[in-house]
Amino acid sequence: MITALFPGSFDPPTFGHLNIIERSRKIFGEIHVVIAVNSQKKYLFSESERLEMMHKLTEKWDNVHVSTCRTLIVEYAKKNNAIVLLRGIRNVADFSYEFDLSMLNKGLDSSIETVFMPTDPEFFVLKSSAIKELAFLGGDISKMVPDLVADLLKKKLIK
Ligand code: ADP
Repeated sequence: MITALFPGSFDPPTFGHLNIIERSRKIFGEIHVVIAVNSQKKYLFSESERLEMMHKLTEKWDNVHVSTCRTLIVEYAKKNNAIVLLRGIRNVADFSYEFDLSMLNKGLDSSIETVFMPTDPEFFVLKSSAIKELAFLGGDISKMVPDLVADLLKKKLIK
């Protein structure tokens, strides 16, 4: 049974992220969604908010687990007996960035494999940063994120 990690900021989770999780859980035995906590990065949602959102959105899937990580993802993988890092690809720009990252991670630990999964066509424009911007400008994000995320996003932006 192969355990795959799906690492990311998920600030906030989108239908694009959920699409990757839903499809990959049918391929791998276990999926660990790993929420990155990087002190150098500014997030709109706190660690616990991102954890709670992702937990609620994935609790219907028994082989999907959610956790946070403050260390190198390859170290986290080793500790949790995961051999795959799963990454979603929306376009060539993503591929270029993700390819470089996969080379870096391979250099850190050659036993951990990166696997790319292309997005399904209806999700290829979904990007957390653009969705935050759109929400801030009062745009309709209802088709981009689940209701619980849209509600929290609105509350956050009114503050
Ligand atoms: P982003 O701000 O790009 O959404 P994340 O760090 O939260 O960034 O993304 C985590 C992973 O999910 C990355 O592998 C990213 O490429 C992937 N991802 C993000 N949005 C989508 C999408 N719409 N379709 C497929 N994969 C996606």
